[in-house]
Amino acid sequence: METNDTTVQSDQPGGEPEGAKRRTAKAPRPIRIPAAITVGRLADLINATPIEVMKHLMRAGIMASINQAIDFETASAITPLYGYRAVPDEATSTKRDDTKVEEDAALMKLRPPVVTVLGHVDHGKTTLLDAIRKTKVAEHEAGGITQHIGAYQIEYNDHPITVLDTPGHEAFTAMRARGADVTDIAVLVVAADDGIMPQTLEAISHIKAANVPIIVAINKVDLPDADPERVKRQMAEQNLLLEEWGGDVVGVEVSAKTGQGVDDLLENILVVAEVADLKANPDRAANGVVVEAKLDRSRGPVATVLVKGGTLKLGDHLVVGSTRGRVKALVNHAGERIDAATPAMPVEILGLADLPAAGDLFEVVASARDARSIVEERRRNEGAARRVSLEDTFNRIRTGESQELNLIIKADVQGSAEAARDGVSRLSTDKAQVHVIHFGSGAISESDIFLAVASQAIVIGFNTPIDPGAKRVAEIEGVETRFYNVIYSLLEDVTNVLEGLVKPEMKDVVEGNAVVRAVFQRGRQGNVAGVYVTDGRMLRTAMARVTRNGELLHDGPIASLRRFKDDVREVATGYECGIGVTGFEDFQEGDVIQVHRLDQVTA
Ligand code: GDP
Repeated sequence: METNDTTVQSDQPGGEPEGAKRRTAKAPRPIRIPAAITVGRLADLINATPIEVMKHLMRAGIMASINQAIDFETASAITPLYGYRAVPDEATSTKRDDTKVEEDAALMKLRPPVVTVLGHVDHGKTTLLDAIRKTKVAEHEAGGITQHIGAYQIEYNDHPITVLDTPGHEAFTAMRARGADVTDIAVLVVAADDGIMPQTLEAISHIKAANVPIIVAINKVDLPDADPERVKRQMAEQNLLLEEWGGDVVGVEVSAKTGQGVDDLLENILVVAEVADLKANPDRAANGVVVEAKLDRSRGPVATVLVKGGTLKLGDHLVVGSTRGRVKALVNHAGERIDAATPAMPVEILGLADLPAAGDLFEVVASARDARSIVEERRRNEGAARRVSLEDTFNRIRTGESQELNLIIKADVQGSAEAARDGVSRLSTDKAQVHVIHFGSGAISESDIFLAVASQAIVIGFNTPIDPGAKRVAEIEGVETRFYNVIYSLLEDVTNVLEGLVKPEMKDVVEGNAVVRAVFQRGRQGNVAGVYVTDGRMLRTAMARVTRNGELLHDGPIASLRRFKDDVREVATGYECGIGVTGFEDFQEGDVIQVHRLDQVTA
């Protein structure tokens, strides 16, 4: 998480510091809140961090993850703490969405790369971002006043490059955890005097998990004690073999301070971009991602977005995460008004009804009416929680849905983390593979948990505890953490999961039964059964057997379990709820759904 205090960035031109600053002095300001709003978006609106909002919710006995929705009433209990009075907003709602569009290869054209800078603190990320921006803004923009909008675009040798202005792997992975993958190339900054440090290792894992090409910027080569060769050696130890060592990782020696090597870095970014063959279709309705959003006193809600595909034009109607609007103005990072934004171009949008959140996806639609109805539909589909547990993974492997077990391993010392990594990696079979996304020493941190969310991984603590903050986030995000003191038990557990397919030493435990009373259509998610629990309980993590007149129709994992519009973990006898079942949607009234669980037979 970026900040832990509730003050807002007051250095934004025309920014909106009132929320936090006037909190104690003035009467609460009205703020429009939809009937359902995700924790992440509420936090954004009231200038709080998601963690803070989660903590307030927890005090009220509500466990909600960043992407989960809470209702208006719940949200309105939190807003006064930040100086806002919640006012119902019927027209908008919250939901991220995957805006993947089928693309015709013939219409695809090359687009600029989107670059993120990562690395250990004080290794020079900010200085490098400034150096790139200052020296390389496009000629025609040189006169303009560059403003901070969360991303900028430069031109090098007539080729545009988009640079995200929020360095560090926390921001990078938080975006990914929300479903927004925007980075094409990661620039890993390593100070040549310091060499690889713990956050460098973390950044490497986060980059590898995102599966994007990496360029190593060996920084501070101007310093007398700079030792670039040592950095290259250390990289090789991380399986990142630089080109000059016969590998395929590009490494560039730079000094962000003097500007030495920055040209070389930009040239290499273009080379890597060319290899990656980054393309988008500019001739269609635009979609993309919100990089940053703020409430501007004179201009209203302002969102910096990155166009992923299509061209965003003045007058376009759009849906942005939770909100909607019509593009009244487009402003580039140089403060110039433009008529259209093409793929990978960062641009500020004016004309939104409300403030979206960083990581929200946007999509251009045909009309204001469409925008309204999509927002409405999203509200209904709101809040699908992701869960990652060994049991889920076992089920996914068993049903053939997945052949991968992703792990993040933290240990007391680096040596035992490596031993654990080596041990579990050797357990991979041809049917199921273990991937260690990240391993390292120290307690399990919040950043580990977000990486787990973004990569559907389970986090292992080997002779090491979990930070209290990380524990809360893990509970809320539904990330499983497991703790071991002896390598043998770890290997045994992992083996059991992997062998789920081959010899399931599991016994079937019936949790409860329910009868279908209604069938609801849920758009792309298929039909959901409205059921009444006749005995036992419904369990989100379990499997469902659908029977009609005693005949088995389907047996598979439960895809969703909800009461009203809330995702829930379980529902008891005598209650009604909605159940979605993976791979089945032909429910009929009167069908019986038996919820059962596979329990490991313990010897
Ligand atoms: P960040 O935490 O990674 O964003 O690091 P900063 O960009 O804030 O840099 C940390 C410190 O290192 C600052 O005092 C910078 O002036 C200094 N620094 C950054 N790049 C260089 C460089 O290439 N050479 C030297 N000598 N100092 C640098």
